[in-house]
Amino acid sequence: MPARRVLVLLPALVATWLATAPAPAAAFGTINGGGQSREHERITRAALACAGDAGARSACFEPRSADYLAGHDHAFGAVGAPDSDEMADPAAHCDGADFVADDYPRTREAATRVLRDCVTRMRTRFREAVDRAAALLDDEGGVIAGEVDLGTECSAQERAEKRAKCASLGAFGRVLHGVQDFYSHSNWSDEADPSRPVGEQNPPGLNRRGVSPVLDLRTRTEPAVPEDLTTGCYVLQDRVPGVGPCQSRVAHAALNKDRGLIDPATGKTADPTTPRGAVGDNFANAVAGAVADSRRQWRDLRQELTARYGRDRGARMACALSHDDPATDCRAGRTGRIAVIALVAGVALVAGAMVVRRRTD
Ligand SMILES: [Zn+2]
Repeated sequence: MPARRVLVLLPALVATWLATAPAPAAAFGTINGGGQSREHERITRAALACAGDAGARSACFEPRSADYLAGHDHAFGAVGAPDSDEMADPAAHCDGADFVADDYPRTREAATRVLRDCVTRMRTRFREAVDRAAALLDDEGGVIAGEVDLGTECSAQERAEKRAKCASLGAFGRVLHGVQDFYSHSNWSDEADPSRPVGEQNPPGLNRRGVSPVLDLRTRTEPAVPEDLTTGCYVLQDRVPGVGPCQSRVAHAALNKDRGLIDPATGKTADPTTPRGAVGDNFANAVAGAVADSRRQWRDLRQELTARYGRDRGARMACALSHDDPATDCRAGRTGRIAVIALVAGVALVAGAMVVRRRTD
């Protein structure tokens, strides 16, 4: 398309994009604007991108791979995809598992069932990520160039996506979305507002640190759900007190810590803007939990790839998912060759030292 036509069309394109963007309510944000500051993208980058603190960790994501996983500019990325095509599905965002002890309109068991649906969904996506990785390698264990080529960016709508890297990371991004939402939408890591009475508008917080055992996605056993764990009931008219089906229940609006500024390099937070996020360190603690758990899930995915496909193939798949030029950087036997080079260098060094010592004796 000629540049001038693009300029003429630009306002219309922006208007269309704004009109089709999802209602800014259901999760840590995906876009910039409407009160959102790309929270999912920034959490994912802080957790996994080589460009930030995660660069000091093993197996970080190189720039173009991180762009697809985390999203960038107007691209939702894999982690943002549930905000484009699973908006109305509570299981994709861990919504609707609400419960407060004493005189509540639904039972603990009902809330636990809904939370387990969310965990089951994440486990399904996690297995998909492992399944789809199989096609990254040929029979000899070499990376297939066409399966990892990022010449054109992956589509976050993974069903249309044939490249194995796009499909595997597409499923893994949806895992990360649910995991990150769990910390924002539940009371796992937060505390109640101490200035108000506890109840459905101000549920108790569990105030826990670190990753939640509820989100162990490698096992098939039912997660043990703490008695006082709650998430929020979500409807389009998200307000406190809850309305419609959320009447007399913990509303998403009362509990979420979705909004605020997050440094994409360090995960440090500022300016929380939701009521629950503004209580104490609630926003910072929710983001810290989400960052830590995103790292746990990537580590678990690598372990699962190894368990399923063997050590060499599993390691090469993880390399292919996180590197921008896997056909060059993740070749079969590369790690073996590096080990041989290191061994030869070591032997030469020792031999040299012995010669020097003999001369000086
Ligand atoms: Zn969400």
